[in-house]
Amino acid sequence: MIKAERSFWEKVLYDQKYDLIVIGAGLTGQSVSYFFKKKHPNKKVLVLDRGFFPIGASTRNAGFACFGSPTEHMADLKIEEESRIIDRIRKRFDGLQLLRYTLGDDNIDYREPGAYEIFTDVGIYDKAAEQLPIFNRWLKEAAGVDNVYQKTTHNGFKAIGIKHEGCLHPGKMMRTLYRKNMRLGVEFRWQAKVEKLDTASRSILLDNGIELHSENIVIATNSFTSKLLSDIEIKPGRGFVFVTKPIFDLKWTGTYHFDAGYYYFRGVDNNRFLLGGARSYDIDVETTTEFGTNERIKNHLLKFANSVLKLPAGWEIDTEWSGIMGFTPTKSPILKSISDGVLLVAGLSGMGIALGMQLGKEAVEELT
Ligand SMILES: Cc1cc2nc3c(=O)[nH]c(=O)nc-3n(C[C@H](O)[C@H](O)[C@H](O)COP(=O)(O)OP(=O)(O)OC[C@H]3O[C@@H](n4cnc5c(N)ncnc54)[C@H](O)[C@@H]3O)c2cc1C
Repeated sequence: MIKAERSFWEKVLYDQKYDLIVIGAGLTGQSVSYFFKKKHPNKKVLVLDRGFFPIGASTRNAGFACFGSPTEHMADLKIEEESRIIDRIRKRFDGLQLLRYTLGDDNIDYREPGAYEIFTDVGIYDKAAEQLPIFNRWLKEAAGVDNVYQKTTHNGFKAIGIKHEGCLHPGKMMRTLYRKNMRLGVEFRWQAKVEKLDTASRSILLDNGIELHSENIVIATNSFTSKLLSDIEIKPGRGFVFVTKPIFDLKWTGTYHFDAGYYYFRGVDNNRFLLGGARSYDIDVETTTEFGTNERIKNHLLKFANSVLKLPAGWEIDTEWSGIMGFTPTKSPILKSISDGVLLVAGLSGMGIALGMQLGKEAVEELT
């Protein structure tokens, strides 16, 4: 942190009152600033983030534009009633349409190469297959689409095909949204970590000692929220992902789910392969806001790639990384007023590509 006294000229920069300050420049936070500024072009909007880029989940995810696999629905049914699951599917489906419409498919490399949940356990497959009429009814009710889930086989596995699921490039998604915000005149401060938030006076203290004030504040810090608001129930969940070097003869070029959404893999441009997840394999250790690789999980995924998916011999990892998700007890995100003019929008529970923009837009409606 650089220490320096404030100049006369800098007062105009610091001592101004914003109409909206958003804490967190991930997909949710930047969607809030975008829709607010579109609605109120003359209002002053500032987005703060502790990272040089957003550093949470939005630029570190797997790029699935998805609304739920059959075994994910089965797991959800154990903790939530049907109407809430249908409501969340509707939000995910609508959210994806909004994201694509707002940013443009070409700008975010959106594509639909074919999606499948694959099964190695016949018993689980039979149970999922039995419930397909229910899940298809949900999709019809939520999104008006027919026969989304269908029994099939894929690459020698029993599988369920998932119509309308796609994938995108998260880096390009965030870059496009950032440029749109810049064009509207939204201000950004990077490496500006909020240390303290006084919700009553709507003032924000940054880790460099600067204090900011705003008419409205939206907290969009997802998994890191409990560091600012202690009584909010969002648990962090670290996710591990890798992308391989190009693989000649790669047969996994679509988008795939396995085991209630805990494992996910897909083809990436130029015959590369992405594999991630398996948080469930060491769940306590992965309940953390610290970035980093859990070698147990990495080795488990390597084994999965070799012995289950049977990637061609000689393949190599190009890049590996982790990101942090924020989970609510029921997996439904939180959008709620904390005090007059202060809103929380967080807890995207691993589904933020579909939900983040929609939720950001809804937050703006709450503000005005
Ligand atoms: C490995 C992984 C794979 C995933 N795969 C998918 C997928 O395929 N499909 C899907 O739909 N979703 C996926 N997700 C989930 C999705 O990425 C998230 O739900 C979504 O990005 C959440 O967006 P957000 O803006 O709410 O949070 P984030 O992107 O986490 O943004 C929060 C921001 O707040 C900032 N911040 C935190 N504290 C402070 C502070 N005190 N001061 C200033 N700034 C602060 C952080 O730096 C961060 O940039 C995945 C997530 C991970 C980690």
